[in-house]
Amino acid sequence: YRPWEVKKVLTTCPHCATGCRYYLVVKDNKIVDVEAAEGASNRGLVCVKGRSGSFDFVHSGDRVKYPLIKNKETGKFERATWDEALDLVASKFMEIKKKYGSNALAGFACSRSPNEDIYMMQKLVRCCFGTNNVDNCARVCHSASVAGLAMTLGSGAMTNTIYDITHDVDVIMLVGSNPEEAHPVVGMQIRQAVQKGTKLIVVDPRDIDLAKHADIHLKLRPGTNVAFANGIMNVIISEGLVDKKFVEERTEGYEKLAEICKDYTPEKVAEICHLNADDIRKAALMYAKAEKAPIIYCLGVTEHSTGTEGVMSMSNIAMMVGKLGKEGCGVNPLRGQNNVQGACDMGALPTDFPGYQKIKTEGVVEKFEKAWNTQLSHEVGMTATEVFPAAIEGKVKGLYIYGEDPIVTDPDTHHVIKALTSLDFFVMNELFITETAQYADVILPGVSYAEKEGTFSNTERRVQRVRKAVELEGEMRLDTDIFIDLMNRMGYPQPHLTSAEIMDEIASLTPSFTGISHARLDALDEEEIKKSIQWPCPEKDHPGTPIMHVGKFTRGLGWFYPAEYIPSQEQPDDDYPIILMTGRILYHYTTRAMTGRTPGLMQIAGHSFIEMNTKDAEKLGVKNGDKVKVSSRRGEIQSTARVSDKVSPGESWMPFHFPDGNANWLTNAALDKYARIPEYKVCAIKIEKA
Ligand code: SF4
Repeated sequence: YRPWEVKKVLTTCPHCATGCRYYLVVKDNKIVDVEAAEGASNRGLVCVKGRSGSFDFVHSGDRVKYPLIKNKETGKFERATWDEALDLVASKFMEIKKKYGSNALAGFACSRSPNEDIYMMQKLVRCCFGTNNVDNCARVCHSASVAGLAMTLGSGAMTNTIYDITHDVDVIMLVGSNPEEAHPVVGMQIRQAVQKGTKLIVVDPRDIDLAKHADIHLKLRPGTNVAFANGIMNVIISEGLVDKKFVEERTEGYEKLAEICKDYTPEKVAEICHLNADDIRKAALMYAKAEKAPIIYCLGVTEHSTGTEGVMSMSNIAMMVGKLGKEGCGVNPLRGQNNVQGACDMGALPTDFPGYQKIKTEGVVEKFEKAWNTQLSHEVGMTATEVFPAAIEGKVKGLYIYGEDPIVTDPDTHHVIKALTSLDFFVMNELFITETAQYADVILPGVSYAEKEGTFSNTERRVQRVRKAVELEGEMRLDTDIFIDLMNRMGYPQPHLTSAEIMDEIASLTPSFTGISHARLDALDEEEIKKSIQWPCPEKDHPGTPIMHVGKFTRGLGWFYPAEYIPSQEQPDDDYPIILMTGRILYHYTTRAMTGRTPGLMQIAGHSFIEMNTKDAEKLGVKNGDKVKVSSRRGEIQSTARVSDKVSPGESWMPFHFPDGNANWLTNAALDKYARIPEYKVCAIKIEKA
């Protein structure tokens, strides 16, 4: 394109929660390129997904462009008018509510959509469905962070900023996180920090690329994070490295945890975790003695049946050495989807209204009843992972899924399909006829990030603008207008609000967002580095909060959670002798619904594979590149073997992006007791030559 023929629109990447800022380059209502911007978290960097995977899907011929209603007789979707589709959706949901009660309905919000859209979706569920059965995909990725950090520190969010934890720090402890694939721009900044002298401790069962640059790689057995953490703390205590002043003045519960940690000697932990005891000692000393040392973690910590305990163990370690509320320190979960932090912030949670205002806290429901001028349920709702079994049992009859694809992303795919086919009525609001949308009764066309205004909140609580770059085609309508039209049809009159007006409503009801408005964010985007605002932002002119828990934890005193190691729920045995872990690769994002529509990315990475260890492959007569049959107690798939020593003997790893062998046909839906997050990271499988 010629520069004078295009316009450039500053916006935020729709893939991972790093929240990179870039310009969409638009010519004749078509995005033709992406140019990196100086965002606070990316500083002029973008990765291959952001650069190449951010616009083909917007203009894809596969987009759903008008409402579709499934013909019950033929099973085929047929084009409908908006009035036909919305009347049907409203009447069916009202019928179910009347017949079975409000709790027979549920809604899942889209963690890729802007805050304003998610806020309106949860308002629809709460005000019109009459239930708190509303959730988002954080349930299957970082709900353990939301619960675990809230219980120990008082706020379920990253404590510091991406720039702060990757610049001028002494040591980075990276636990269960492969940022060079899942959060590439964070990965690049960690690699740059290591090149400049930062020491790196990698705690991961795989030889991820960053492990090759680490000072210590603790290649632990999957599912043993809590034992590892207790071992680190055992060394900190026995070496006299506890920050006694910090522990005495700012925390509670230390004695009980210290008592538990006594048993977790490096030798005992080495046996549980398949590590070397001296490496555990070295890692503990390196981390504890450093001045600036952040813990950065991801789904390797959360996606376990003890995921919340794993997260709380990260808080325990940092509190014990006083590395919280300080620059270059903290406990830092790298959230998954671009706006999964925002989906939680906006109240797409069965336990919390927007801004983590708890249903069970006195006066909260009444506050929202007054503001929204309606009666609301006082009952905590079901999590997404509880809705599926409830649908199979016949307790949930109607479901509205906004932009999620659980058939691809949720564990035990057979179980998800059984749940969806047990429903009386199922609505999807989607860009494409995804694997999940094929089971819907009605599909309402969704709108992409490039066609609307709004905000995303990235992993560091930074609220950033998303801007309309291209006009909507044909009959398509904004998602917020769909929710508002449904509210009006379901007897709850609502005016049509702009995205900026919706943010004003959010700010008026959410103390941590009081000072956030589109106008303020627009003004900040005029600056050289687009710094934006990190919540909590409790006053109109508050600058935002880059580092949390300075001087005082959000919950008052930080709480040491006394966690014992509990093995994963499914262990390998004679029938299924290999542990399977799952994860993401650089070239795709979760369901691949967006990145899978970029031909270049599909050319590089278009098919399922399974990483297996050389010794296991030899025993099974499998060679690199061979087709293999992979099975668990829940299902069977075909994949291609990648043989190496990246994983240890008896362990394997697969991405879940690809329909021609999706790992989730195999994974275990065992749930964590606090956050109800599934155990994606450990299940038992068998591999055979196909
Ligand atoms: Fe987008 Fe994440 Fe890549 Fe940044 S790192 S460009 S946010 S996918």
